[in-house]
Amino acid sequence: MEKTEIKERLKDLPSIDETLKSEEGRKWISLYPRRFVLKAVRKHIEDLRSAIIKGESTALDAASVSRGIECLITGYITPSLRAVINATGVVLHTNLGRAPLSEAALKSVVEISKGYSNLEYNLKEGKRGKRYAHLRELIKEITGAADATVVNNNAAAVLLALSSLAKGKEVIVSRGELVEIGGSFRVPDVMAQSGAVLREVGTTNKTHLRDYERAIGPETGLILKVHQSNYKITGFTSEVSVQELVALGANHNIPVMFDLGSGCLLDLRAHGVGTEPVVKEVVATGVDLVTFSGDKLLGGPQAGIAAGKPDIIEQMNQNPLARALRIDKMTLAALQATLFAYADEERAAKEIPTVRMLLEKPESIRQRAERLALKINKGNGTAIELIEDFSEAGGGSLPGVSLRTFCCSVRHSAITPNKMEERLRTGNPPVIARIREDALLLDARTIADDEVPVVAERLNEILIRPE
Ligand SMILES: *Cc1c(COP(=O)(O)O)cnc(C)c1O
Repeated sequence: MEKTEIKERLKDLPSIDETLKSEEGRKWISLYPRRFVLKAVRKHIEDLRSAIIKGESTALDAASVSRGIECLITGYITPSLRAVINATGVVLHTNLGRAPLSEAALKSVVEISKGYSNLEYNLKEGKRGKRYAHLRELIKEITGAADATVVNNNAAAVLLALSSLAKGKEVIVSRGELVEIGGSFRVPDVMAQSGAVLREVGTTNKTHLRDYERAIGPETGLILKVHQSNYKITGFTSEVSVQELVALGANHNIPVMFDLGSGCLLDLRAHGVGTEPVVKEVVATGVDLVTFSGDKLLGGPQAGIAAGKPDIIEQMNQNPLARALRIDKMTLAALQATLFAYADEERAAKEIPTVRMLLEKPESIRQRAERLALKINKGNGTAIELIEDFSEAGGGSLPGVSLRTFCCSVRHSAITPNKMEERLRTGNPPVIARIREDALLLDARTIADDEVPVVAERLNEILIRPE
């Protein structure tokens, strides 16, 4: 483009002031916060100016300019953290907020946090109380442990336990259990942070009781067992059971801790799902301490639960780190309501979304997938199929366990599955789906009943306008 031409085009650019005073501008200001309108107008005009200077073709008619500005405003007023629909079938999707909360948990959060609460107040005695004491009895009841405490998440529970029990001492761990969970929790790194010294024993695939036994010495502070969570060692393997470690620890007067990761409170095995022991059974082995997450198989808010011997729990509560890792009142409220549901297993299986989704029968999932398929517009190049597939528990829980499920498989002659996936993900509300080979899959396991029409509507919008 000629220099003079560029100059001419720059003259055609509307001014910020003109734009704000235009009919559209006044409408935006009446609808949206003024600062976002101003920011969008400035940015769009600036972008147009740069484009003109670079000689790029730009539409400067009023309608195009308005559309560009409105698009920016929409971006500014849309909160970054949003609710999404999980159509991946991964029940505990770490990227999608792990466990959705139960109605009772939500109700409790509202009730406890909209006003004041006895968070740190003992109502009976009329004096200061402890926040973690609220869940102590409930956790004792459910797990059979002699004492319990709660912190911000399971990583915090492990860090606090190691720091309280083994700072400056050695912690014996099998090489097969030095795992990394979700990229930021790595057993050796947490160990280093806690001030404890890692004493690795055995090999990746096989660790024997004698390996632990040989490592015990005057420096030993703790024997730690870690749930392998998101991976499984198969083939020529052996690990030492928690029962054997408890006996070994007792012989040498060394505490034994088991980081369970997921912490299953309801017997999923009885429903044919996985082989995970319930926390109560692990506690019954006499292990000194177990730790587990609040938002994995338990199906509650992000939290870390530590259950074990009273002297150990006391040491953890007294540790200055406990203050930095403490649980907040909203989490406490949600966790309390979630744990309450476990007092009755049938209630837990019905009311806690995570447990309900894990236990839902394929036939019932199929019916929801069918309802979804019926709402999707056929023809016009669209091919819908109901297919049987497998979903995962996710969140490092139940590795290797495949859950039979049903999906709506969607194909369109003019839109690739990748394009469909992207448009579902970037629309409103975002729908996260998975892709297999040449089709988009919507796994009905994690789509709630009331989300079925929303998913169908979002998909129909896309199928009607292939672009
Ligand atoms: C998930 C997991 C953790 C971390 O728990 P968060 O609640 O995510 O902090 C620690 N240890 C094991 C074995 C786990 O599976």
